[in-house]
Amino acid sequence: MKEIIKVSNLSKTFTTRKNDKTAAVREVSFVLNQGETLGLVGESGSGKSTIARLLMGLIAPDRGEIRIYDNDLKTLKKNPLDLYSKIQMVFQNPAESFDPRKTLGDGIAEPLKNRGYSKQEIEKRVVELLEMCGLTADFAAKTPASVSGGQCQRAAIARALAVQPEILICDEATSSLDVTVQRQIIDLLVELKNKQNLSIIFISHNLALVQMFCDRVIVLYNGKIVEEGEPDYIINNPQAEYTKLLLDSVL
Ligand code: ADP
Ligand code: MG
Repeated sequence: MKEIIKVSNLSKTFTTRKNDKTAAVREVSFVLNQGETLGLVGESGSGKSTIARLLMGLIAPDRGEIRIYDNDLKTLKKNPLDLYSKIQMVFQNPAESFDPRKTLGDGIAEPLKNRGYSKQEIEKRVVELLEMCGLTADFAAKTPASVSGGQCQRAAIARALAVQPEILICDEATSSLDVTVQRQIIDLLVELKNKQNLSIIFISHNLALVQMFCDRVIVLYNGKIVEEGEPDYIINNPQAEYTKLLLDSVL
């Protein structure tokens, strides 16, 4: 199996202005294999979003290394357009992916514009992306505030996939949605994953969702990995005390 992300001994501590320190990520190592959906679970504050931001190069680690396709992320970051053609992210709050004053179509078009696509190519591609994500062409003219949360998240996924990334990081991408809509977004992600050959890191505090969607799961507690394995196995045979507590709280 081909490793497309390899994280080694990653650590990140935040220091507040009052000089309080939070060790958000502590000596974390894992790989993401090609075509895999890897779940990252843990309660609020366990370090999930910090790992996502480190993987996206939005913040720098204190120690450790991230390799994407066997290149050091530090080197890849020097060419952001190339890096973000490989790896994209979908956030918890779908509106976060869009400028509230612009249309969804403008938002989806932005990464294409940045890469020099022509106006005609962009118009065609935006419709293609909307339809791929279960929306109709008329959504291009709508603003984020005028559509439902589920529709906005579909548009955010369309935007993330505009430049055909190979890796998608979903940080609580379904957590703000109603249960039925959550299910629809997961179904969409499964479909896109197969069609677009994506590898996915699916971050969630909900082990049941992770069980439904992920090939492998990593359980985080206090910035550390406490357990790793197949979701069915972990849910039925949790080894770490913390995983047992997490199961009690969400299932
Ligand atoms: P999760 O996504 O699992 O809820 P986070 O990665 O957001 O967890 O946060 C992990 C820990 O790091 C928390 O204690 C959080 O308060 C702290 N933290 C995250 N970002 C910052 C920041 N920019 N400054 C200070 N502390 C932070
Ligand atoms: Mg988070």
